[in-house]
Amino acid sequence: MRVGIGYDTHRLVRGRKLVLGGIEITHPKGLLGHSDGDVLAHAIIDAILGAAALPDIGQHFPDTDPLYKDANSLDLLATVREEIRTLGFQVQNIDATVIAEQPKLIPHVGKMRLKLARTLELDEEAVGIKAKTREGLGDLTREEAIACLAVALLEQKRKKKKKRR
Ligand code: MG
Repeated sequence: MRVGIGYDTHRLVRGRKLVLGGIEITHPKGLLGHSDGDVLAHAIIDAILGAAALPDIGQHFPDTDPLYKDANSLDLLATVREEIRTLGFQVQNIDATVIAEQPKLIPHVGKMRLKLARTLELDEEAVGIKAKTREGLGDLTREEAIACLAVALLEQKRKKKKKRR
């Protein structure tokens, strides 16, 4: 078993769609990013990569690469799922906390869990998502950003296959 941690923050700006956990949420502001800015998916990707001791999301999907412009972050998550699979790893469970003053996320948590679980080929019960506010303290309170923390537990089913000669 291997555990990994991920963290991400994106700025909230007008004129962007708000995508979190692969679902679009109606809100006056969205997350700025080279991709769709899905801070939750990004924190989960980093937790999984970290558990496998692989380079982080920025090295996997550089924000200078036009290939990832407006990328659907669930596609990036699926790519990472396949990459760790080739190393014999499988995600056992995910837990994440999204920190946002607005919008209220509780009504959307069920859909996010389902989307993320499907992308990771997990049962919904293996994906935990909590929504927190900062209780009026700091930059996240001014609704300028959304942050996310995630952990991932991986099981190594087999060691990486040796290349045949
Ligand atoms: Mg990010």
